[in-house]
Amino acid sequence: MTDTMTPEQRHRCMSHIKGSGTKPELKVRRWLWSHGYRYRLNVKSVPGKPDIVLRTYRTAIFVNGCFWHGHGVAEPPIQDSGFKVQSSKCCKIPTTNREFWVNKIRRNQERDRENYRVLQENGWQVIVVWECQLTPKRLEHTMREVELLLNEKMLSLYRHKPIPYATEEEACQLPMAAEGR
Ligand SMILES: [Zn+2]
Repeated sequence: MTDTMTPEQRHRCMSHIKGSGTKPELKVRRWLWSHGYRYRLNVKSVPGKPDIVLRTYRTAIFVNGCFWHGHGVAEPPIQDSGFKVQSSKCCKIPTTNREFWVNKIRRNQERDRENYRVLQENGWQVIVVWECQLTPKRLEHTMREVELLLNEKMLSLYRHKPIPYATEEEACQLPMAAEGR
């Protein structure tokens, strides 16, 4: 195959490919979209403003950067002032200004936990996808797992729904509580 691109064009082309592939959230969105899943982004009406919202599946997906959200960094148990926060495989806490970073990561973790809790209490499924799970090697596997969770949720939503259309005869036999839902 002959190469007809000038070095400059090639550079632009390469940097475009590199740039578009780096944002973790984009990888998740692309996969979902290309597999037929439709979503909305940063929906303000949903608590915690999740990155990706799939309303039909009543699922919120958070795509978390390993450093900022402290992937693998154990959270201190309640009432343990001597607890030491440790770096993890994907979240290396800088040694300079350590205190500052520890507090920052810890606050983010707390906020995340609170957001997930509120969502779950409102019947939402929360899926957290970590940046490190989206490497070219792991992306497909990760997203297949996400897909399974989506379908599982969909199934549970269907199971708890009353029969949408019943014949008049059937409707008469339905308990009153099932009506008007
Ligand atoms: Zn990670």
